[in-house]
Amino acid sequence: MIPPGSTIGIIGGGQLGRMLAMAAAQLGYKCHIFDPHEHPPAADVAAFVTRAAFDDADALRRFATEVDVATYEFENLPTEPLATVGDKLRPGIRSLAIAQDRATEKEFIERCGARVASWRAVTSLAEVEAAVADLGTPLVLKTRRYGYDGKGQAWIHSPGDAAAAWSSIGEEPAVAERGVAFASEFSVILARWEDGKHAFWDSPRNEHREGILRRSTVPCGQEVAAQVVLAREASLRIAQALGHVGVLTVEFFASRDGAVVNEIAPRVHNSGHWTIEGAVTSQFEQHLRAICNLPPGLTGLMRGGAVMENLIGPEIERWPELVADRGAHVHIYGKDEPRPGRKMGHVTRVTR
Ligand code: AMP
Repeated sequence: MIPPGSTIGIIGGGQLGRMLAMAAAQLGYKCHIFDPHEHPPAADVAAFVTRAAFDDADALRRFATEVDVATYEFENLPTEPLATVGDKLRPGIRSLAIAQDRATEKEFIERCGARVASWRAVTSLAEVEAAVADLGTPLVLKTRRYGYDGKGQAWIHSPGDAAAAWSSIGEEPAVAERGVAFASEFSVILARWEDGKHAFWDSPRNEHREGILRRSTVPCGQEVAAQVVLAREASLRIAQALGHVGVLTVEFFASRDGAVVNEIAPRVHNSGHWTIEGAVTSQFEQHLRAICNLPPGLTGLMRGGAVMENLIGPEIERWPELVADRGAHVHIYGKDEPRPGRKMGHVTRVTR
């Protein structure tokens, strides 16, 4: 057990690192943030900050000697330099390596007995065209690496779109994936301990716009709930096969013929922000409990449910109206530039 008073290293200093550090402070831990940016949001609430590139192996080695356990809040980290952190890293490198390459990730999910949309790995326009002929349309091209919030993606609605789509993702190695006609999207969020203990939260129904999460709602409604049982089983098999320690999020499409995995995130997730006020133990606290090997907290609902809405780009300017809404829990991440598409904050309303 890593006792309160110890130092938790967090690689990545975005809003997820910030909310992890706030939960860590409540439990009496100190946090050390590792991030290359000038003003990472997590640095405002952490005891120590290392400003260095994610591929700076020397800086990572030094960081590892200064922390008692380390975790990551960001997937696009080069794994080779990260290996210098060694056994202190939880979850381990395997969870990260699999989640950060969409082709490896899909193969892994299929090996765990879960469904993904029909897909092909592609490295050239000819292969994209072959995938269109093979799988049909609509098809979405997603770069294997470095995609998030819908970035690095292009839709192919008819064979004539293939060349433009291939060029718009930068002709990078990609997966071509069949569009899923889903009724809803939802996620399974679970925490797993080294000895295999685990806990699920209620699954939120997630609404996206332009590839970015807009709203998560719990309870998720009957239509989605009917698919959650099998989705949980699949998610747990994935967590076990990864040997995952900490929070793992699996995003699903609820399709007419069952749950289809979209992707996995080996970390706390935007669709779990509602757990801060809506559940007995938040995803952030539970992640720390798992990586520090403290006992699990309860994950049940505090009240009837919760609705979390993201504040994206200039929407953050609504803060005066939101803070005047007495039932709204307002979270502002402290980022200076409200660029379009940038996650600036969120609001949660706990429902009866
Ligand atoms: P991703 O970055 O893979 O999570 O994709 C972002 C969002 O794009 C998803 O949450 C969906 O709303 C949509 N999307 C991605 N892949 C597909 C697909 N194969 N079929 C339908 N919608 C998709």
